[in-house]
Amino acid sequence: MSVKKTLLKNLHVINPTSVPALIENTFVAISGDIIESVSTVEPNGEFDVVHDLLGKIALPGMINAHHHLYSALAVGMPLPKNNPTNFSEILQEVWWKMDLALDHDSTQASFEAGMLDSLKAGTTTIIDHHCSPSYIEGSLTLLAETGEKLGLNTSVAFEISDRNGQEKFEASLQENIDAVRKFSSSPHVHPMIGLHASFTLSDDSLKKIRDAANTLDSWGIHIHVSEDKADEADALKKGYGSVLERLHKFDLLNENGLVIHGLHIKESDLELIQKHNVQLVHNPSSNANNRVGMAPNQNLNKLKSGLGTDGMQGNMLREGKEGMLIRSSHLSGGEDSVDYMQLLFENNASIASKLFSGSLAGSRKLGYILPEYHADLAIFDYFPRTPITESTIFGHIFFGMSSLPCDVMTRGEFRIKDYQLLDVSEKEIKANAVDQAKRLWSNFN
Ligand SMILES: [Zn+2]
Repeated sequence: MSVKKTLLKNLHVINPTSVPALIENTFVAISGDIIESVSTVEPNGEFDVVHDLLGKIALPGMINAHHHLYSALAVGMPLPKNNPTNFSEILQEVWWKMDLALDHDSTQASFEAGMLDSLKAGTTTIIDHHCSPSYIEGSLTLLAETGEKLGLNTSVAFEISDRNGQEKFEASLQENIDAVRKFSSSPHVHPMIGLHASFTLSDDSLKKIRDAANTLDSWGIHIHVSEDKADEADALKKGYGSVLERLHKFDLLNENGLVIHGLHIKESDLELIQKHNVQLVHNPSSNANNRVGMAPNQNLNKLKSGLGTDGMQGNMLREGKEGMLIRSSHLSGGEDSVDYMQLLFENNASIASKLFSGSLAGSRKLGYILPEYHADLAIFDYFPRTPITESTIFGHIFFGMSSLPCDVMTRGEFRIKDYQLLDVSEKEIKANAVDQAKRLWSNFN
């Protein structure tokens, strides 16, 4: 079978952190799922399909570097009777009760509804951290298959934890190992080994995880680190200098790994992160929501942190803007902030490109509208009221393009055209999600 050739014309392309950042009146030639050329001159050759985008604006399909699709049905969920007063209580009273109530059907509804929400916002790659302790075996395959159905790039991992007993610990570990074996050569699925957090894993458990991981050719962990001071206090109590020192002692840090949050890490932890070339991911809206504080500016800059939403939302432009505004509320005039455009469009692209280029999957570049990159695009029907130039892009991205993209392409195929989903029924997914949410909420309350 010959590879499908697609041409997009009449498109203004913005690669926010590239030079040039703006390419006007562009032709984007796509071969299969990869961009072949981006040019202001019409390319030669035959195309199977030509789409005239009528002067719309394209951003690279966005990457969510840390998400929990399992929480998609938590929107509007009734609060527990015992109102949580700190981070540990929020976990115990809300999330650990909800995740335990998830079964196959409600998990599937969460995946579909959460992915739909992401795709509609132009998020085409999701690095997910999954947890459904009553439905473990097969959950990562379901996640990968749902991603395939919607055309997303999906990184899968199951949060291993001691908190639900030995049997569920073993089953969760096995689910990760099985997924790594199953999906390592998949171009659109990236398996990782998910750990909930240091404070819900014993030394014995960390050793078991490391030993199981070492039976694999290539692996990286995906873990919450130092989201709250309680995590660091637990590591100290267990006899380690910090959470990261503990993970380092168990040889769990490597260049394929992701550490999430890192709010209370110290100077020696920064060195460990750099030494192992593990990636930090910052989740501002979640940190604000949980009232745990914010990661220091200099750490995010120094470690080239990625940007995730931690289950709060699927919309990355909104996460970036919210992060900027939340952070600004702590700063005085003239103080440097964090460049959320860089986190979202440069750091996330480099994280996803590294992860999805697995040892067996070959080289996979994500996050730019440039030759050799995945043909994942978010196209906006956006006609600006002020000039768009190289120097004004930041403002347009975070303060102008506030509506959803009209068209979303992944793997060289339109998944959304004129705000309508082409492969799946939004109505059906949402109606099912509402039914499943009612069941889920009544199950755990
Ligand atoms: Zn998280």
